[in-house]
Amino acid sequence: MSVFDNVIKRFEDLKEVINLKDEDLKYLLEPKLVSHAELEVDGQKFPAWRIISNRALGPGKGGIRFHPEVSEDEVKSLAFWMSLKNSLLDLPYGGAKGGVKFNPKEHDTKFLEKVSRKYIDSFYKVLGQDKDIPAPDVYTNPQTMSWMLDQYEKNIGHHEPGMITGKPVELGGIALRSDSTAKGAYLVILEMVKTLGLPEKGLTVAIQGFGNAGLNVAKMLYADGFKIVAANDSRGGVHNEEGIDINELIKFKEEFGVVSAFSDYKAISNDELLELDVDILILSALENQITENNADKIKAKQVVEIANGPISYEADKVLFDKGITVVPDILANAGGVLVSYFEWSQNRTGNILDQNYLAGLLNERMIKSWHNVYNKHLELDKKIDLRKAAYIIALERIIKAEKLRGNL
Ligand code: GLU
Repeated sequence: MSVFDNVIKRFEDLKEVINLKDEDLKYLLEPKLVSHAELEVDGQKFPAWRIISNRALGPGKGGIRFHPEVSEDEVKSLAFWMSLKNSLLDLPYGGAKGGVKFNPKEHDTKFLEKVSRKYIDSFYKVLGQDKDIPAPDVYTNPQTMSWMLDQYEKNIGHHEPGMITGKPVELGGIALRSDSTAKGAYLVILEMVKTLGLPEKGLTVAIQGFGNAGLNVAKMLYADGFKIVAANDSRGGVHNEEGIDINELIKFKEEFGVVSAFSDYKAISNDELLELDVDILILSALENQITENNADKIKAKQVVEIANGPISYEADKVLFDKGITVVPDILANAGGVLVSYFEWSQNRTGNILDQNYLAGLLNERMIKSWHNVYNKHLELDKKIDLRKAAYIIALERIIKAEKLRGNL
């Protein structure tokens, strides 16, 4: 099953709940702009995309990823999840995503710069602060955004920092952005612990993925007394029942680029990590990690999706029937785009906003969004999972905007 089939099935499931006609569903599932190019860099060609899934609420918004497995199907799905995420957070954005299919780990900095600039040369006409605003995603970062901004401004001939977010502070970014995805997830986890009445100290956690988001959320939870018993990255993982010293693990990862072989802890495979009997399992790697093949083996009581789309459509049902609470990606990882929005508005107005004020807004919005989703789940007598609850809120807002525009 393709990743986009997950999107279609989930939308279809909600057709009755939100009273949608078949043709409306078809319209919502149709990407509004698909741009494709082959980027030629040093004699090699890489397929690249920018896809806008919806723009009823505002311009497209969403990251650009560099990854060897990027495909049109994946970028399209990620763009749809961005539409839902932006709508759920009440942001004035549609949804979009971009990607380049290549392995950035096999290339040097100069090459990555060339790919970034080529990407903009190919897509700059469909991008812009009022058209579609990219940001970092898997294997892209503030440096990538800097090259892209520079190339964009070279193409259009004037400054427009609001065309891209996740920039370094010197180019109009905001300091808060660097760990905002992790911060948002952390805030949602704390609120979930309160709402569900879980113990405040000593909850056990396993973390799949130790990139920017996974690593920072681990750090925040560890500082708060959560017991992180396992963590991994694409090259392996470590497990210690007594808890891992996360600050030491982060130092190790920064020095050696991997988490495996840290200390004398037991090595753990990806499958074993996913199946650990922990209170909270955090998924911060890639799509389709829990599927119909392993869903029945999951023992965690709560699963938090910091990656986009790590649980398949079929797996959702299995986890729900087992009574496992899944905090969906469009809620758990929305801190990133929320702070992107602060950055974008600051770039547009030219005002410099107080960092503490923005940190407070991030706090407030994430907590409110958790309660919006949880309350919808209660309102529907807990018959639907939190993902469906979040989709209902997000879709209702998009549908309302589309209706007002006369498109539905
Ligand atoms: N790539 C991030 C996401 O999936 C951030 C997007 C943004 O800031 O526009 O939400």
